[in-house]
Amino acid sequence: MRTILIVGGGYAGFYTAWRLQKKLRAGEARVIVVDPRPYMTYQPFLPEVVAGSVEARHAAVSLRRHLTGTELVAGRVTRIDHAHKTVIVRPAAGQDYPLEYDIIVVTAGAVTRTLMIPGVAEQAIGLKHVEEAVAIRDRLLTAFDQAAGLPVGPLRRKLLTVTFVGGGFSGVEGFGELLALATSLVGRYPELSPAELSFHLVEARDRILPEVTDKPGEWVVRSLQKRGGRVHLNAQLLSAVDGHVVLSTGEEFDSELIVWTVGNAANPMVHNHTDLPIDERGMLVVRPDLRVGTDDAPVPDAWGAGDDATIPDLAADRPGVSTVPNAQHAVRQGKLLARNLLATLRGGALKPYVHHSLGVVATLGLGRGIFQFHRLVIMGFPAWLMHRGYHVLAVPTWERKLRVLAVWATAVPFGRDIVSLSSVQHPREAFLAAENVLAGDAPRS
Ligand SMILES: Cc1cc2nc3c(=O)[nH]c(=O)nc-3n(C[C@H](O)[C@H](O)[C@H](O)COP(=O)(O)OP(=O)(O)OC[C@H]3O[C@@H](n4cnc5c(N)ncnc54)[C@H](O)[C@@H]3O)c2cc1C
Repeated sequence: MRTILIVGGGYAGFYTAWRLQKKLRAGEARVIVVDPRPYMTYQPFLPEVVAGSVEARHAAVSLRRHLTGTELVAGRVTRIDHAHKTVIVRPAAGQDYPLEYDIIVVTAGAVTRTLMIPGVAEQAIGLKHVEEAVAIRDRLLTAFDQAAGLPVGPLRRKLLTVTFVGGGFSGVEGFGELLALATSLVGRYPELSPAELSFHLVEARDRILPEVTDKPGEWVVRSLQKRGGRVHLNAQLLSAVDGHVVLSTGEEFDSELIVWTVGNAANPMVHNHTDLPIDERGMLVVRPDLRVGTDDAPVPDAWGAGDDATIPDLAADRPGVSTVPNAQHAVRQGKLLARNLLATLRGGALKPYVHHSLGVVATLGLGRGIFQFHRLVIMGFPAWLMHRGYHVLAVPTWERKLRVLAVWATAVPFGRDIVSLSSVQHPREAFLAAENVLAGDAPRS
């Protein structure tokens, strides 16, 4: 029996494995997914996790619950040696070990792009993983509690200042959602005034949201500004040492929370530790039929999809364009990859990947959104409803859909939870504090 090894159980890997386990005949092949995380992250929900509108756990789709016919390996692939059909797995605990395969599927995704800007590595936080979204929310809620107990002054001002760097999809969505949370939260703090909130979105280019055209992009800027957000266009972050933000426009301010959303970089494992073909950006070279390689030189038994790969976009109106890194493509590529892989096992014909975009839909905070499909643009509440409707339908499995819907439904009468659980990072503190109190007690007579 052949072994199909899938590197990465995110969007593309999850859908490949899910489809394979449904379609494989008994004894036809064994499927293994290697991922250090036990879940697929539904990243489009992360901005709503930031705002507390989606429970963090509901953005994490359990691999063990849903990939029941698949073997799961909790570990990171550190090297792919396709010449010897072996990967090296680094498990969470224990020594690295080799794992052999017959067919490899590389769906390891991308990583957050970092730039060597002073202070960013120490101060900033990304928005690509569930723990980051939770931490962003907790940091804001904690900052409100701290600021409420302080007199007006620099420290209080810093605590109420938030900076997002990067005006792409995830930056704008995260910014809009956090701004909406902060604006509603301030009403619960009589000690604070809405005018004290200082929210900055910093973008190096002259516009945000490159996924939409100019006019809707300008509307998004105006909509954020109306709600009190400061959008800095043509501005680069020069320094963030100790939370002191310095912009190329000459503006400077202290910011408690700095969220780094400047886009993707190639997965370092794919870029540096494989003998599969890689392009100049460090992306896996993949053909339209999702086999690794070029039109005239396919690499046998190697497949790729998702954000770690460069795949020709056959739906584009000009040649030489690759599919953009998004979930719309990753899901469909995963499904087609499984179909084509099965076709090679059974001697069938392969289909090329062609997907015409369904448009772009983004949340800008509770009750506000934007949707664009070619020249059709919908803004505000209807677009936000479309955003929620689309994603609750798109999140895999009915179990997830119902959980997310239940949280949205209970938020209508009761609102969002507004408690920071940042103390979960230090669970022993309360216990040690109690122990210290006891140790300091005078002996009883
Ligand atoms: C905040 C945010 C909002 C977004 N919203 C949208 C949206 O509304 N619409 C849309 O279309 N797209 C959206 N996207 C983009 C979309 O989520 C990604 O394009 C999609 O997740 C890519 O899928 P993937 O399978 O390639 O990678 P991922 O989903 O990132 O999965 C990669 C997997 O590989 C694993 N992995 C990494 N390295 C290794 C290794 N060495 N060994 C083993 N496993 C490894 C990772 O742990 C991960 O599970 C959003 C992204 C973000 C961050």
